[in-house]
Amino acid sequence: MSTFAPPVQRLITELSKLPGIGSRTAQRLAFHILRSTPEDAASLASAINEVKEKIGFCEVCFNLADEPLCRICQDERRDRGIVCVVEEPSDVIPVERTHEYTGVYHVLGGALSPIDGVDPDDLRIEELYARVSGSAPAASAGRGEPVREVLLATNPTTTGEATALHIASHLREVSPELTITRLAAGLPVGSDLEYADEVTLGKALAGRRAV
Ligand SMILES: [Zn+2]
Repeated sequence: MSTFAPPVQRLITELSKLPGIGSRTAQRLAFHILRSTPEDAASLASAINEVKEKIGFCEVCFNLADEPLCRICQDERRDRGIVCVVEEPSDVIPVERTHEYTGVYHVLGGALSPIDGVDPDDLRIEELYARVSGSAPAASAGRGEPVREVLLATNPTTTGEATALHIASHLREVSPELTITRLAAGLPVGSDLEYADEVTLGKALAGRRAV
């Protein structure tokens, strides 16, 4: 049975749902919030509300956006002929940090994992195919530059590899003229893109290979 007053217990329960937060850390955070000023606590609560209210997905690439198009899709200098496919919006950030990449993105929203019930329909794979074939209505926003290369930058994990292979085999079939690349080795196997350092990821981008 809980030793805390119900409101405190509720806060601990909610905090412990966050990734990487165990019950001890959740308790520590809850007590930190209890000690903070009412203004700081209200500011944290309103930041959480605001992000859920205002942030949605980019209509073209499904990156996070506070407008119909994300900042990258709005940027006229980006090369729309090359599309980097990643699993999550958080994977865009490390690729951007390398300053090696000038194309655009496509965020799948996860990786294929039949065990966990994640099928192609659960990801934005059809939307990727529509972009590549030029049939996506939003993709032509502004200009109809055809996609020349798809860079599969899913995580070097079992599910990430399976997702890359699934997409590559379909694209090879429907668009034989398309260049399909994968990040080069150098990334630690079994880890997430999110945790890669800039140098390693920069090298992996520069040395990407055809799949
Ligand atoms: Zn976008």
